[in-house]
Amino acid sequence: MNSFASKVMLFLVAAVLVISSIGLSPASAWTPFKDVSSSDVEIDYLYDRGLIKGISSNQFGPDYSVTREQAATLIGRALGLSGTERKTKFSDVSSSSYSSGYIQSAVDKGIITGYPDGTFKPKQTMTRGEMAYLLSRAFNLTKTSTVFFTDIKQDSSSTSLYTAVNKIATAGISNGTGGGSYSPNKELIREEFAIFLARALEPKFKVAFQNATIAKLYSTTDNLNVRSGPSTSYKVIGQIHTNNEVQVYGYSGNWVYGKSGSLTGYFSLSYLAKATSKPSRVMVIDAGHGGSDPGAVANGLVEKEVNLDVSLRVERMLKAKGINVLMIRRTDVFYTLDYRAAYGVKNGADAFVSIHANAYTPGTSGSETFYSASVANDSKQLATFIQNRLYKAMEHNNRGVKEYDYRVLAANPLPAALVELGFLTNSGDAAKLATSTYRERAASAIAEGIEDYYDWKQQ
Ligand SMILES: [Zn+2]
Repeated sequence: MNSFASKVMLFLVAAVLVISSIGLSPASAWTPFKDVSSSDVEIDYLYDRGLIKGISSNQFGPDYSVTREQAATLIGRALGLSGTERKTKFSDVSSSSYSSGYIQSAVDKGIITGYPDGTFKPKQTMTRGEMAYLLSRAFNLTKTSTVFFTDIKQDSSSTSLYTAVNKIATAGISNGTGGGSYSPNKELIREEFAIFLARALEPKFKVAFQNATIAKLYSTTDNLNVRSGPSTSYKVIGQIHTNNEVQVYGYSGNWVYGKSGSLTGYFSLSYLAKATSKPSRVMVIDAGHGGSDPGAVANGLVEKEVNLDVSLRVERMLKAKGINVLMIRRTDVFYTLDYRAAYGVKNGADAFVSIHANAYTPGTSGSETFYSASVANDSKQLATFIQNRLYKAMEHNNRGVKEYDYRVLAANPLPAALVELGFLTNSGDAAKLATSTYRERAASAIAEGIEDYYDWKQQ
């Protein structure tokens, strides 16, 4: 081929390349590589631009490692640096080496520095940490952000590994290797190199950096300040509350950087614990009737007195279980049903149980527990947990769990149940309810049922 012919051939090749790059190529990019999936768009992108080649005509070799001279060559090509083979400053890169031009160009641009002993170690595999340095210099990355990797110590000096990795993370080039790691000492493979390079070159491939959640901690205090930096001298940007979850992104001394709800910032480690303390359990116990309203009266028993005695026993037992109790009454006083129904929600309780005794025909006996379906909550479960224990403890008829809109239930926004301990009008039930033994048994069943309910709620 004479020189003119070869120039024509070059022109034709160039023309074909130009045409294919302006849209005559298929809509989905294509590479000849059988070991690259069609979703590897970054590899397609680089291949289309002639920036990468395969290890053979149809193999890209995505898992092969990248040597330092290969990396320098690829970066040099991507940046359009001179690849003309020439003498380099490194004793181990000869002027006849294919990579010598790109290596020396990269040195001239301050992109690579080599080792203190004057070598470049061109055949040595590049690590992910070295790639961070290479990319941050090659693309003049300057921006940093709050970036945490568990395997890289924070170090704000401009030449630190942390700063280099921070820059490529902030630039949307790397999100790390998962689980909060960057794996700086891991050998870089060709696929990773291609992805990094494509992201550095083309904004559409960039990933929004997101710190990984490496632990979950919970606030042990109310009104815990969230700050813009890791000390009390930084601005307060919000507050979280007892048992609020903090997704931990990283640790900085005695501070945690992380996210709680919509707040991202620093939290003092002194006020965070591994597990949530038991969520607040605040139960309202309502001894039915009272004062001018005696309730049912039969077989020598007055309902308001039985209700109060059993309620006080329930209070004692719940407190022993670590459950907070708000009592509607501890003495023989009258309160309206609306007062009782609204009391719990006004005072920070999370559930309500009203305690009563029944009256009907002498032959009717047994216990039953009511809930209202008019408020959508866990009232039926609360009633069921109590009733399942109560009739057994009372050793009498199980009249079951029933739906009825008693005022203290239907007007109550909390999960609420109304317990009927037994029938004062039935001699058998009345005889039991006259004794402290059965009152204690009934109270214990109610307290256990309430605890069952809270345990169930916690699941
Ligand atoms: Zn009653």
